Amino acid sequence: MQYTRSSALFAHAEKVIPGGVNSPVRAFGAVGGTPIFIKKAYGPYLIDEDDNQYIDYINSWGPMILGHAYQPVVDAVIEKTKLGTSFGTPTEVETQIAELAVSMVPNIDKIRFVNSGTEACMSAVRLARGFTGKDKIIKFAGCYHGHSDSFLIQAGSGAVTFGSPNSPGVTAGTAKDTLLARFNDLNNVRELIEANPNEIACIIMEPVAGNMGCIPPKPNFLQGLRDLCTKHNILLIFDEVMTGFRLAKGGVQQLYGIKADLVCFGKVIGGGLPVGAFAAREEIMNHLAPIGPVYQAGTLSGNPLAMAAGLAMLQALNQDDEVYRRLEEKTAYLHVGMARVLDANKVVHTINRVGSMISVHFSETAVVDFQSAASGNNDTFKKFFHGMLNHGIYIAPSAFETWFITDALSYDDLDKTIAAVEAVAKTL
Ligand code: PMP
Repeated sequence: MQYTRSSALFAHAEKVIPGGVNSPVRAFGAVGGTPIFIKKAYGPYLIDEDDNQYIDYINSWGPMILGHAYQPVVDAVIEKTKLGTSFGTPTEVETQIAELAVSMVPNIDKIRFVNSGTEACMSAVRLARGFTGKDKIIKFAGCYHGHSDSFLIQAGSGAVTFGSPNSPGVTAGTAKDTLLARFNDLNNVRELIEANPNEIACIIMEPVAGNMGCIPPKPNFLQGLRDLCTKHNILLIFDEVMTGFRLAKGGVQQLYGIKADLVCFGKVIGGGLPVGAFAAREEIMNHLAPIGPVYQAGTLSGNPLAMAAGLAMLQALNQDDEVYRRLEEKTAYLHVGMARVLDANKVVHTINRVGSMISVHFSETAVVDFQSAASGNNDTFKKFFHGMLNHGIYIAPSAFETWFITDALSYDDLDKTIAAVEAVAKTL
């Protein structure tokens, strides 16, 4: 493949944008080479500035669950745009999407819309602190909740890919209120709670982790956390920015039947426009301004174009009783196919999958937490990444990311992907 125009565009971008990208995960820092500039996309395909076409397994890092340029979303945005792009007043579409989201997700009465997953998580934690009157939070190593200060403590995703899991610029004062636990280790969480009696406001977690590859919760891990939270008057925050409206209509709460106190959303809920949201039962949400004392706001929050896109997306998911089954079947097909060709070529690997989230680690052990995720062979991953790219398959340029499967993928696309994995496996 030729990347002449992408390379020139990147060189130009680097002069005026740090690292040439507006979000680090887009750079090819962990795998080498220059990022590819995309000019358009449709269904499961990306087309770059040099007219190369790829089957896309990033899908804008999650939102495009029904494929790129999904017609109902595109139409909704075009129609809304004609009426004006922002008013800074309430609009009807905000209530429409709020009502639909609240009806799809268990255990939430009210929802507040923001502009990103970071804002959603940051605001949910502030609300948890305001509601409980406590300061400390527990997060898990390798989980990513956006780039707000309190979360950049052993963070996953780009923060670990680029070697800054603990970012400079986060003050010691902030860091001391974030307690770090091991994912899938209930005893570790219990010890932290017991060592900090009556101090912990909330546990924030990705209930299915997706920022250190995909890591499912062990049986009873989520229920164990729920029980600990109830016992110690701690709010359980499910960061469902990745998993919300992706693993089930009602997210992980529905999938595993576990009740969270606060839920954060992003990605799918905005249909590809900048949207985040956080939600809870009424008693908690009524602590927010303007009716409660916990302050949170946004000039463009609930923006009509973003709400129209999100509403069209949620309506499509809500109306389709088969979509989550189809997504699961496609992802399982990919899982089985990739495992078969990697095994046949004696490539040591672990594939983790939950619903339409899947990841391949070149590790010898099961991948159940950050430590085991980090034990994967990065040289093999680099070769795998570039090999796949050369075969027209676009996966995340880091092993610390999940792949996102879209319903737009056909079985022919999946077969091509498995054939590419087979060809690349022979070179590893
Ligand atoms: N939480 C999770 C679980 C995420 O995966 C992400 C982003 N990948 C965020 C929060 C932050 O969202 P955003 O990038 O929209 O700020």
